[in-house]
Amino acid sequence: MTSQLNSLAEARRAAAAPLFADLAGDIGVSFEFFPPKTEKMEAQLWDTFQTLEPLGPSFVSVTYGAGGSTRERTHATVARIAATSTVPPAAHLTCVEASRAEIDAVAEAYWEAGVRHIVALRGDVPSGGPYRPHPAGYANAIELVAGLKAIAPFDISVAAYPEVHPDATCAEADLDNLKRKLDAGATRAITQFFFAPESFLRFRDAAAAAGIDAPIIPGILPVSNVSQTRRMADMCGTAIPAWMVSLFDGLDDHPAARQLVAATIAAEMCRRLYAGGVRDFHFYTLNRAELSYAICHLLGLRSKVAPATEKAA
Ligand SMILES: Cc1cc2nc3c(=O)[nH]c(=O)nc-3n(C[C@H](O)[C@H](O)[C@H](O)COP(=O)(O)OP(=O)(O)OC[C@H]3O[C@@H](n4cnc5c(N)ncnc54)[C@H](O)[C@@H]3O)c2cc1C
Repeated sequence: MTSQLNSLAEARRAAAAPLFADLAGDIGVSFEFFPPKTEKMEAQLWDTFQTLEPLGPSFVSVTYGAGGSTRERTHATVARIAATSTVPPAAHLTCVEASRAEIDAVAEAYWEAGVRHIVALRGDVPSGGPYRPHPAGYANAIELVAGLKAIAPFDISVAAYPEVHPDATCAEADLDNLKRKLDAGATRAITQFFFAPESFLRFRDAAAAAGIDAPIIPGILPVSNVSQTRRMADMCGTAIPAWMVSLFDGLDDHPAARQLVAATIAAEMCRRLYAGGVRDFHFYTLNRAELSYAICHLLGLRSKVAPATEKAA
């Protein structure tokens, strides 16, 4: 009976979603990048950044290879954003396979470079297998948040899982873990990617019922290649719906069509989230601008930079 009521409410919410043409652009966005490995990738990242920057993101974040494998590259990317743009950068930081002293030194260097926002994460064991805390390290993200707060008054984001983290014993324990990260000093949560808008909306409602009032921002991954996404989704416990697989069926040799389908799927998901009251979106850009830019445009967001005045004829 409850599931029937749920699906009725979900169907009503989907039907009430405004048309793209009616979206006011009253949304906030943030963009996530990974640190580039080569000069070519670096050039691509800055192109991407410069394309997305005029949309006025509230922040842009840069990921961190678990175990510190990208420590210098993440720092260099974040520091360059801090030095050359007015968009606030956020540095991801994981505590897996690192001592407290190592983590604290990374955090102190960020503070000195003017970086005020950290996305604090536990991370996963790089070689795979079950998570084990470093003997002299922070045991998990809760401890990491508290440790960072003891260093400086950072603005801290943490991870949340609408479809439940694979290590969690149950959804309630996962939500309790999120609450403890926020109680330890984090100000917002950014979610793992998901493809069913209702899973996010249910999670948000469950969080509110559990007394969580911090913003929970959906992480949007625009997917243009299902087989590549499947590996990531399997690792983090995100379901890939059958309808999504079938929408990409037969498009292996049609990259342009795949991009159009990808933008349509992600924009439709955001439209439904918008109908559910969501106004802030975090895009996993994979260092490519076009899909995220197109989705933001469909959601009504426009460049905040005035176009150059046309030359007199
Ligand atoms: C927005 C976002 C950004 C990310 N960025 C990066 C990145 O830059 N680099 C990277 O390597 N990874 C990144 N990740 C992935 C992240 O590191 C993994 O998902 C990791 O497995 C968990 O990190 P966490 O901070 O959520 O961990 P935690 O919150 O510490 O714990 C993870 C889960 O384990 C369960 N758990 C563990 N121990 C207990 C316990 N004792 N009691 C109850 N529950 C327990 C909880 O349910 C919890 O949700 C990111 C994830 C997200 C959503």
